[in-house]
Amino acid sequence: MDSIPNIVILTGAGVSAESGIDTFRDGGGLWEQHRVEDVATPEAFARDPDLVLRFYDMRRAAIQTKAPNAAHDALARLDAVWPGELLIVTQNVDDLHERAGAKRLIHMHGEHLSAWCTACDARSRWTGPLGDRPACPSCGAPGTLRPDIVWFGEMPYRMDAIYHALNRADLFVSIGTSGAVYPAAGFVREARAAGARTIELNMEPSQGSHWFDEARHGPATALVPTWVEEILAASTRSA
Ligand code: NAD
Repeated sequence: MDSIPNIVILTGAGVSAESGIDTFRDGGGLWEQHRVEDVATPEAFARDPDLVLRFYDMRRAAIQTKAPNAAHDALARLDAVWPGELLIVTQNVDDLHERAGAKRLIHMHGEHLSAWCTACDARSRWTGPLGDRPACPSCGAPGTLRPDIVWFGEMPYRMDAIYHALNRADLFVSIGTSGAVYPAAGFVREARAAGARTIELNMEPSQGSHWFDEARHGPATALVPTWVEEILAASTRSA
């Protein structure tokens, strides 16, 4: 490993859990009392767009009442000072990483605070509801906006950039993710194949826990600041 390792950090719903945003798997397979198939697939949107738009309108409103926690803050601090390559790939659709100050960030599953026009393909920052079918701010078409969320069965965003970073990574860290949703669940194997050391920070062993060189289990607000301090101290010593 170089003295300044290239770092890729994958985050999931567990990093936002202590900010008061529910995870997926912890709700007994339900997401906010809904089955995934009823709210998070293109088929669900085609079948019952009002239900899907209402569901995301509630999630979009809810995240705006939440604040980043110590785990988001620690990752933003690492991003700000790390002299090597670093990429935070989040599966989260909340905006808590960027509100904490993270800049080198990819939202691979989209964002609650973005609307996508299915007519002109424009993305617009969106904080209000979509259920009342507002016109697209770019092309003016009525009723063509959908949540800018990658639903199950759709292609995650920026995969070329993510695999490029994974293949250059010296260190891969997975935080607060169950390892149940692909392709993100396969990133640890990609990084290992490229020679990276791999660490899991999660409340409990994830489904892919055995792929990691090291696993620490506990709440993200405790584990992540400690890990960030360690890596910053180690890089100072080797500089
Ligand atoms: P997941 O719900 O499948 O798994 C969450 C993991 O986090 C679990 O392994 C759990 O043990 C762990 N966890 C729970 N609380 C924790 C804590 N305080 N500290 C550390 N770990 C904790 O989430 P996932 O793997 O991200 O996959 C679910 C999908 O659902 C993602 O694609 C994501 O887009 C979407 N989702 C996003 C949000 C969000 O944006 N905040 C919330 C729910 C679901």
